Amino acid sequence: SSFAHFGFDEGLMKAIRKSEYTQPTPIQAQAIPAALNGRDIIGIAKTGSGKTAAFIWPMLVHIMDQKELKPGDGPIGLILAPTRELSQQIYVEAKKFGKVYNIQVVCCYGGGSKWEQSKALEGGAEIVVATPGRMIDLVKMKATNLERVTFLVLDEADRMFDMGFEPQVRSICNHVRPDRQTLLFSATFKKKVEKLARDVLTDPIRIVQ
Ligand code: AMP
Repeated sequence: SSFAHFGFDEGLMKAIRKSEYTQPTPIQAQAIPAALNGRDIIGIAKTGSGKTAAFIWPMLVHIMDQKELKPGDGPIGLILAPTRELSQQIYVEAKKFGKVYNIQVVCCYGGGSKWEQSKALEGGAEIVVATPGRMIDLVKMKATNLERVTFLVLDEADRMFDMGFEPQVRSICNHVRPDRQTLLFSATFKKKVEKLARDVLTDPIRIVQ
């Protein structure tokens, strides 16, 4: 498999080449074509598999396709992650490739300054990476809204559940328009995650790393 098969534009291809990624990882090779086709995905994959790019690249394509269509100031792409550390790692990857299209990314996590995060959101980021509890707080404060979200990623769903974020994750899913595209990644696929997948995904493709 090669990156050329994905049909990305020259700007994104250039950024990928610059990253010195020589070929798609197995999760990328499987998930990206399905995501570009608008499918919901369950990805059973660990950190180190290249799963971040597997959802960031299709998210960028999705945003570039949608941007003009829906006015508003909330994000179009929303990524939920269990920890500050992981959300920051995703943020770095999203910034790196979002730069190609001048797409703004904001990272919001528990423990960080709510004021600073609200200020950043006011700028109108197309992508928000957040821990679930903080996302809810910021929506309640009206620092942002989820009305424009059409591409939702739940990363490390099993860890979000281990950390007690199940109610927050479900609440956020319930507040995002039902015709969204949803990608769920998890290192393990236990009962609770399976139940979440049944509740929040539509006809998902299942990919095992
Ligand atoms: P992740 O599993 O998303 O945390 O990615 C693990 C690491 O692999 C990150 O440092 C990425 O920058 C890197 N990476 C992602 N995709 C590729 C690729 N196709 N080839 C080589 N490295 C990659």
